Amino acid sequence: MKEVILIKLGEIALKGLNRRSFEDVLIKNIKQKIKSLGRFNIEIAQSTISVEPLDADIDMDDVADRIGHVFGISAYSRACAVEKDMDAITSCAVEYLRDKLSFAESFKVEAKRSDKKFPLKSPEISAEIGGVILENYPNLHVDVHNPEITVTVEIRDTMAFVRANAEKGAGGMPVGTSGRAAVLISGGIDSPVAAYMMAKRGLVLEGIHFASPPYTSERAEQKVCDLMEQVSKYSGRMIMITVPFTKIQEKIHNECPEELFTIIMRRLMMKISQRIAQKDDCHALITGESLGQVASQTLYAMVCTDSACQMPVFRPLIGMDKTDIVDISRKIGTFDISIQPYEDCCTVFTPKHPRTRPVLQYVIEAEEKAGFDELIEEAMNNLKITKIGF
Ligand code: ATP
Ligand code: MG
Repeated sequence: MKEVILIKLGEIALKGLNRRSFEDVLIKNIKQKIKSLGRFNIEIAQSTISVEPLDADIDMDDVADRIGHVFGISAYSRACAVEKDMDAITSCAVEYLRDKLSFAESFKVEAKRSDKKFPLKSPEISAEIGGVILENYPNLHVDVHNPEITVTVEIRDTMAFVRANAEKGAGGMPVGTSGRAAVLISGGIDSPVAAYMMAKRGLVLEGIHFASPPYTSERAEQKVCDLMEQVSKYSGRMIMITVPFTKIQEKIHNECPEELFTIIMRRLMMKISQRIAQKDDCHALITGESLGQVASQTLYAMVCTDSACQMPVFRPLIGMDKTDIVDISRKIGTFDISIQPYEDCCTVFTPKHPRTRPVLQYVIEAEEKAGFDELIEEAMNNLKITKIGF
């Protein structure tokens, strides 16, 4: 009995002539994700990728768990590969699915016969296997509309596969099929979710974090690395750039009108991020902003922020409620890290009454009066690079 994992493609199954290049990236990502677990044979045929372990001691629970984190997959299932012989297939269904069939009440058998030369037709295959399962499991009855377990038998070119219900995949597009973008990452709940969502659409990520020691601690920086490590389980490896932001924040505090502190700080973050992104071949910035969430995320504030850079700014959370964002952060495992209590540079020198309707012209005048060019150059010359997910 040989166990494999069968993977159904997500959206890329709908691609046209360039579909092959999407499939190649997906297979590369799957290989990368599981290679530390052992040797595998990975093949694609008839829109299904099969992952076959070549070493005896491979833990298939681990393999399935990692495959569940790869974008571009709509569903995956562990399956037993058997020769295309009805006796072999039937006894495989009875034995291989014992754990599941023993504890269920209802089931059905679904046969898919892509090898049209196979002697039995799909309904005949289902009926025969279903009969033997009923004989072996008196706890079960057949329910064709709403079964607890669907036993699927796929008769393919070289082998047959027997499996139970598929698991939902991570969805989205394979990372690496949409280009490269830089995500502005704080220690909060929102930005790691934004990073996850854009990686899910196929972007390769690079992280940018602004740190203001000694106002922000080393532990706060570590927290951001921990968050990105968690995101990298989905997005794959990345680099994170830490920008020294202390002098810039002090200058804002000392030389700009208090009600504009936050908006000027955010504009300078965007300016510096754009410089880093251009240097590193990233073509968009990503933030965790959500309309109206705080003073710097009103429409007027975002108009001011956006005008500080020319690059497109992706804000995947823009229309989401905090509760929905929290749900995703719990699902992807970043929530518990995000709620650790370490200061972010955004909470340093916060004004009592930030402008919710900043006027761009005044903001630019205040910025020009203070003059940040030299400090931006200095920050650019002192970037720190951390490898994530390696
Ligand atoms: P988050 O939960 O992501 O911290 P937030 O709701 O606290 O978001 P802000 O603090 O206003 O919002 O930040 C808005 C966005 O700006 C963040 O989602 C993030 O993309 C970016 N950002 C904020 N602080 C930093 C930082 N220290 N370094 C890099 N990006 C930051
Ligand atoms: Mg924040």
